[in-house]
Amino acid sequence: SQRTLVLLKPDAVRRGLVGEILGRFEAKGLSLVAMELRTIDAEQADQHYAEHVERDFYPPLRTFVTSGPLVALVLEGDEAVEVVRGLNGATDGRKAAPGTIRGDLSLSNRENLVHGSDSPESAEREIKLWFPDLP
Ligand code: ATP
Repeated sequence: SQRTLVLLKPDAVRRGLVGEILGRFEAKGLSLVAMELRTIDAEQADQHYAEHVERDFYPPLRTFVTSGPLVALVLEGDEAVEVVRGLNGATDGRKAAPGTIRGDLSLSNRENLVHGSDSPESAEREIKLWFPDLP
């Protein structure tokens, strides 16, 4: 079994979609290992998105992810990293397939509701960053 770090971004909290999105992960059979509502500052955003800080799209992304509370969670299950990315759908909500979280619920490339670690190595780094005390 494998763990992955998921964020329900501030648009998910603002739009009242936390239950809907969490329900999809639970219904799939993934287990909830940790969960916290948290508002992050620019420094935490930069650490989370270390690989994107130099990109053109990053400054507005940082503003967005620090704009209000988000829900950070750790999910566990067989091939959890890939399974979560499948449920999330393509990055751009306008292009994501129907049936995915972004495809069903987002019409935006930036405000795309969810984050999921992109590899087991990223998951390990991100889980340590967000939940340093998790066994
Ligand atoms: P995530 O890492 O959040 O699961 P992802 O792996 O699908 O999403 P990345 O390429 O890692 O996408 O980009 C990280 C986040 O940056 C995206 O989820 C989105 O919010 C934002 N983003 C990416 N590309 C763009 C873009 N061209 N314009 C605006 N925002 C973008």
